[in-house]
Amino acid sequence: MVKVVKFGGSSLADAKQFKKVAEIIKADPDRRYIVPSAPGKRHDDDTKVTDMLIELYEIASKGKNLDKKLNEIKARYCAIIEGLGIKDFDIDKEMKEIKAELEYNPTCDFAASRGEYINGLIMANYLGYEFVDPKDIIFFNEEHGLNSYKTEKRVRERLKDVEYAVIPGFFGSSKEGEIMTFSRGGSDITGSIIAGAVKADVYENWTDVSGFLAADPRIIENPVGIDMITYRELRELSYMGASVLHEDAIFPVRSVGIPINIRNTNKPEDEGTWIVESTGHKPEYVITGIAGKQGFCAVSITKALMNSEIGFGRKVLQAFEENDISFEHMPSGIDTMTVVVHADEFIEKEQQVVSAIHRLSEPDAVEIETDLALIAVVGRGMKSTRGTAGRIFAALSHAHVNVRMIDQGSSELNIIIGVENADFEKAIKSIYDIFVTTKL
Ligand code: ASP
Repeated sequence: MVKVVKFGGSSLADAKQFKKVAEIIKADPDRRYIVPSAPGKRHDDDTKVTDMLIELYEIASKGKNLDKKLNEIKARYCAIIEGLGIKDFDIDKEMKEIKAELEYNPTCDFAASRGEYINGLIMANYLGYEFVDPKDIIFFNEEHGLNSYKTEKRVRERLKDVEYAVIPGFFGSSKEGEIMTFSRGGSDITGSIIAGAVKADVYENWTDVSGFLAADPRIIENPVGIDMITYRELRELSYMGASVLHEDAIFPVRSVGIPINIRNTNKPEDEGTWIVESTGHKPEYVITGIAGKQGFCAVSITKALMNSEIGFGRKVLQAFEENDISFEHMPSGIDTMTVVVHADEFIEKEQQVVSAIHRLSEPDAVEIETDLALIAVVGRGMKSTRGTAGRIFAALSHAHVNVRMIDQGSSELNIIIGVENADFEKAIKSIYDIFVTTKL
């Protein structure tokens, strides 16, 4: 068995956390390729090392003296090194190299990447594992996307005869050999790439929560945890705001059917959440989870005989495309279609979009509604259960929530409901209550 294990910033924030991580790694010999993040926050008011390094870059780009900030960063690492009792780690050498590079050629990606780089060196030293520099195995293309072909090939070649290794997360190199990072939280992506390339049996992603919860704990007190969720369900939930795993981390393992297991470093006995391609396990509840987001606008376009006009939808969407606005949903009726967009992207361009819709598609009317919240109710259990939609709407009506929009995906995996922003929390509570008390 091969397990690729990624540890997030809070799991490596100080020496105490590092020790927990080492214990987890050593408890299972299948945990062979370790992907660490940079040290995260030790408490709520703390600063992540990555943020300190970005500040360091900002100082460097102004040509100012770096010593004070470098010393603060060094102190974070020294506390870890000393706390772990490591004697032979030359942190001054690392700091000097960062300083030299940032004085000569300051780039934000290089600065930000050093958090993972040094943490990886410390971890490799502590565990006695080989250190593999991601700059030699992870490659970006010109558009800052991943060069998957080259990356997979090089990862496989490099790790072929390596039994145990530490590979820092979050960065790789550009075509020109410059250090480049993923977007924030991108160590999740590195772990997924390594797991996909070596065809691991599982990708374990260790963080500070025991997996996904069925609803946002800021809205629902003590929501139930999700034991198992499919990639498709997670997509429906994650793009609505779940934040445990970087969105892009799904794809490299999903395409080769490797499950992800989200685990809690502070509670290693918890099974966490399994994210899988498909499963025969019966879900405990009809719904797997509820996620939502406020701040949408609905743009409704009316035109008589729209249904028989070829190309009408394309013309309407072109108006959004011309203004660089992506759309979230597009429910339609016989003579109407509604395009739901993020208010913050749309509002400042609303009149341009409306005039473009008129110019391109000649509708009878265009109407904008604001203050819309979208709620996604997701569950593979819905398909085989009658009356799910009925129960959702009964619950909402009981709670005096006015439903402004409904969209059910043809896969019967999700129902999207639009409500007023003001009804957002009430709506989620009423849907959660009705389902999570009823087992399948
Ligand atoms: N250290 C990076 C960040 O703070 C990447 C990561 O932690 O995954 O965003």
